[in-house]
Amino acid sequence: MTDTTMDLTLAEGFGRRWTEALFDVFLGGRAQELGKLDQRAGDGDFGNNIASALGRAQRAVATDPPRDYRGWLTAVSRGFLGTGGTSGPLFGMFFRDLARCAGDGEPTLTELAHGLNAAVATVQRYGKAEVGHKTMIDALVPAARTLHDLAPHATDAAQALSRAAEAAVEGARGTAALVARRGRASYVGEVARGVLDPGAAAAAIVLQAAVAAQSGTATGVDAGWINT
Ligand code: ADP
Ligand code: MG
Repeated sequence: MTDTTMDLTLAEGFGRRWTEALFDVFLGGRAQELGKLDQRAGDGDFGNNIASALGRAQRAVATDPPRDYRGWLTAVSRGFLGTGGTSGPLFGMFFRDLARCAGDGEPTLTELAHGLNAAVATVQRYGKAEVGHKTMIDALVPAARTLHDLAPHATDAAQALSRAAEAAVEGARGTAALVARRGRASYVGEVARGVLDPGAAAAAIVLQAAVAAQSGTATGVDAGWINT
């Protein structure tokens, strides 16, 4: 065997569990906590935006249960696309690219890595934010790079996703030290220093939810780091 690359297919039900983990973690109180960060350094609507996006998605899947990964992620995307703020459309397009990464059934790890790269590129094309501007990009770029590097040679998909999520959390935590160059937090200058960027934190939690979905942990997502 000369080809050392492999492509792991993610676990059956990954798309459904990822979506449900997002509902659990954000609608279970984290959206409100992230909203408080936006109150300190933005206009305060972030928590409501993310809660209403996921609430809309949750009602949609209850009425019309998706059949596959693409359907679950599309429901999340539509929830965000129907929501206001800057984060609504950006996360909406982000999840639309992730939804499109798979053929029938669950994506492979490499397909997910490509989907994540495409999703981040879309967010940057519309939002024009670079790493260091104190936005969701600070979490998403390191996560996408990590997954892209690991996916072709990974033997354990949960472990590769976990490394990507760790990179996202590290990137998100780093936003606290920054002043914002994009979004409403950029209007308040030094006031934003010391405050975690809510969009970056949410993006990192999205990656953590993917780990939970792949590894099937009953405990779900531990997002306690946003308060430390
Ligand atoms: P608004 O700033 O319009 O009130 P939200 O409160 O819904 O929007 O979302 C704020 C989040 O959106 C920020 O925490 C940041 O992560 C993200 N964000 C803002 N502007 C951009 C941008 N240009 N590119 C990427 N993300 C952005
Ligand atoms: Mg806001």
